[in-house]
Amino acid sequence: MESSLEGNLKRIHDNHAWQPFTQMKLAHTPYKIDRGAGVYLYEGDRPIIDAVGSWWVNLYGHCNPRINEAVIRQLETMEHAMYAGMTHEPALRLSEALSAQSGDALPRVFFSDNGSTAVEIGLKMAFQFFQNHGRSEKRHFISLKDGYHGDTIGTMSVGTRSVFHKMYEPLLFDVFHVASPSDDFDFAAGKVKAQACDAALEDLERLLREKGDTICGFILEPLIQGAGGMKFYSPEYLKKAKELCKKHDVFLIADEVFVGAGRLGSYFAFGQSGVWPDIIALSKGLSGGYFPFAATLASEEVYRGFYSDDRMHTLFHGHSMTGNPPGCVASLVSLEIFEELHQNGVVQELEQWHRRLLINLMEGPAGKHVRNCRYFGSVAALDVNLDSGYTGDFAPKMLAKSIEKGALIRPLANTVYLTPPLIIEEEQLDTVYEVLESSLEEIVGG
Ligand SMILES: *Cc1c(COP(=O)(O)O)cnc(C)c1O
Repeated sequence: MESSLEGNLKRIHDNHAWQPFTQMKLAHTPYKIDRGAGVYLYEGDRPIIDAVGSWWVNLYGHCNPRINEAVIRQLETMEHAMYAGMTHEPALRLSEALSAQSGDALPRVFFSDNGSTAVEIGLKMAFQFFQNHGRSEKRHFISLKDGYHGDTIGTMSVGTRSVFHKMYEPLLFDVFHVASPSDDFDFAAGKVKAQACDAALEDLERLLREKGDTICGFILEPLIQGAGGMKFYSPEYLKKAKELCKKHDVFLIADEVFVGAGRLGSYFAFGQSGVWPDIIALSKGLSGGYFPFAATLASEEVYRGFYSDDRMHTLFHGHSMTGNPPGCVASLVSLEIFEELHQNGVVQELEQWHRRLLINLMEGPAGKHVRNCRYFGSVAALDVNLDSGYTGDFAPKMLAKSIEKGALIRPLANTVYLTPPLIIEEEQLDTVYEVLESSLEEIVGG
């Protein structure tokens, strides 16, 4: 389908735009989105269901009236004030509310602007904690294979060296990558298999035994490895990994940038394991997808490692826009909405719609093109059977085809996933699956 970007705006795009993760020479002209409302983005008057929550950030719909109203009120009061030497009510209220979501296991809240920085701050906390304690040898990190933690130098370093990040290898610091517990989904049981867990835990245990004295932190994405291919794993792993980390004096850093803020049915995904990590990084859905806004939560133990008469023990990190009041307010209202949805079992219901619609898909004509259908909370994913060589083409074709049919679906290589806003209605999700099935048939079946 042709983009509606034309005339002067097309000229500006061609002369001045440089978009993320985009080879500008090869990319088609982008679709021009004119407004958003609820689950819909509008190209002119044409509604497109945002089935991926605009890069996983949108949880409560576009232009949510409640969030809008609170943000507008905040803008008329104070748009921003320096968050050092001064403070303000929105940041304080949000700090308390986030801490409460962890049952006060992680009571200290450090604000920043995006997922990558929230993760990077967590890494600096774990690293400096041991430096402050004179244990300078504890300075390395462990991360899971297939992990993704962001695009800055530090977060690329702890991530898997994907094709995108290989280029920057000479700039990255070394980390220890351990086996991922991710496993196939047992559809009948409605949950991920836990067979890969044991081997992954053994790998972690071996590494900690051999190198634990040199390690300050272990970073992982709890329950779903997102950008690495929407790979699911069992909460059991988190529980045991936490025990192992504790035994070896290593901080467990949960990158909840994707899975947190309610995406998987609990505010923090880690909460589903029955234990808590030492540090949590949060962004994307934190502000309902409204602002470049993020938070890193820390346990009191981590915080106490910096609380000192020695100024050199200060956490030397800060961004100009830290604690931005409209971001705080959007996050507070988002949290309120989440609690109401949670009380009404909305995410559990959405999970069941995913299940029903995936069964439909597997039994229908598109079923032969897919494998490992899976769902968890608001997330559904499946892998498409493709001839080798076709993989590179598939994602842009699916994007174009789905938008033409009225839903935004943007695969990761041959993994198709759906991460709709939590407020999507059943008929709207039906439509998304219709678009998905017919697009699959036309692209892969044809
Ligand atoms: C998106 C993402 C990040 C990076 O967040 P940005 O806001 O894009 O910098 C980090 N970790 C995970 C798990 C993510 O999904």
